[in-house]
Amino acid sequence: MPEVSTASRILSFEDARHCVEEHAATVRPLGTESVELLSAVGRVLGEPIKADRDLPPFPRSTRDGYAVRSADVAHVPATLKVIGEIKAGETFANIPVAIGTGQAAAIMTGAPVPEGADAVAMVEYSSLHGDRVEISRSVLHGENVVPRGAEARSGSVLVESGRRLNDAAIALAASAGRPELRVHKRPRIAILSTGDELIEVDKAPGATEIRNSNSYSLAVQVHEAGGEPFRLPIAPDEPNRLRKLIEQGLEADLLLMTGGVSMGRYDLVEQVLSELQADFFFTGAQIQPGRPVVFGKCGARAPAGEKSGVYFFGLPGNPVSTMVTFELFARPMLEALAGMSPRKLAFVHAKLKTEIKVKPGLKRFLPAILSGEFEDSQVELVPWQGSGDIAATARANCYIVVPTDREMIRPGEFVPITLR
Ligand code: AMP
Ligand code: MG
Repeated sequence: MPEVSTASRILSFEDARHCVEEHAATVRPLGTESVELLSAVGRVLGEPIKADRDLPPFPRSTRDGYAVRSADVAHVPATLKVIGEIKAGETFANIPVAIGTGQAAAIMTGAPVPEGADAVAMVEYSSLHGDRVEISRSVLHGENVVPRGAEARSGSVLVESGRRLNDAAIALAASAGRPELRVHKRPRIAILSTGDELIEVDKAPGATEIRNSNSYSLAVQVHEAGGEPFRLPIAPDEPNRLRKLIEQGLEADLLLMTGGVSMGRYDLVEQVLSELQADFFFTGAQIQPGRPVVFGKCGARAPAGEKSGVYFFGLPGNPVSTMVTFELFARPMLEALAGMSPRKLAFVHAKLKTEIKVKPGLKRFLPAILSGEFEDSQVELVPWQGSGDIAATARANCYIVVPTDREMIRPGEFVPITLR
């Protein structure tokens, strides 16, 4: 039996995250497929979306009012002759060829501003008398007009390849005349839960048995992050069967395991992976929950030309640890496999409602509730029984991030959070 590597590599949270990011930057995403515009939402764009014409395609009025020459209304009140009316979608045949000195054209929001005019005076500051309009407020050159091509030039990239498509990106694709888009295929992500105590959801549990919930939370997170989850049968804490299932999992694009990575006698995941010649990049991170998290690659030493290995994560089995470590470490790798451009993890800040006291030394990600209204939002910890407490986490809508060196945080301080 090959020697089992017991050398542990425990990294700070930041180093562990950067380690995953560096590996993620080297992976090649799967190919692309064409999908209908609305089916592309949430998918990762596999081609740039380009503007098929200038945006806006003509100088666009942003107000209802009068297209004017700004010099004509430098001194107000000013009276101008109205020589036409331009509504949105008006054909050029019906638009005055040019606005001359002393002239104006009534214009609606979204309509093209005619030649000669360089601003739009708002209807609120005008009064019409027959074919004369009195303007009571000056406008500057360019005011209330978006010049042709100011938002995007024809042929320029509107949405970069590698972006996850949201409402605005879909709207841009629609405005560029794209009923279909090329998106990356979803990577296949194997999920393997380990533990002798585990049973499947549809079985009646014995007194000391635990239902396998991690495979489900992970399947949801994988899907949401752009992957195709594939749940393997539960692996017992027995090396041969565990090894068979890990080997099966390594046929996917990424393998996520839960449980069996702590220091117990039956925590066999690292041992079996070592037997499979795995490289371990870290075997722990200074965080809570989730300290025993493992990241590595299997099969990287395969002969040149063959698939250069499959990344895996050994996530701690406690259900909250599993969820948190997926978000912090597995997600960036999955997103890279899904074709997404890398992005840094950034925390937002919220005002703390009730005091936090912890032991320093670990960076903590604690289930919390962001509440309040408008600018008065506040965040507080959810009382919990530790990293096995799914019920408390289900009540949470964020995690408070407690820095490694903090022992006590008082109400009123702004604390980093990650929304969930
Ligand atoms: P382990 O990481 O294997 O030491 O497991 C830590 C704790 O998480 C134990 O209480 C396990 O029963 C629990 N656990 C492990 N895997 C799962 C799972 N798939 N679903 C629910 N709980 C789990
Ligand atoms: Mg276990």
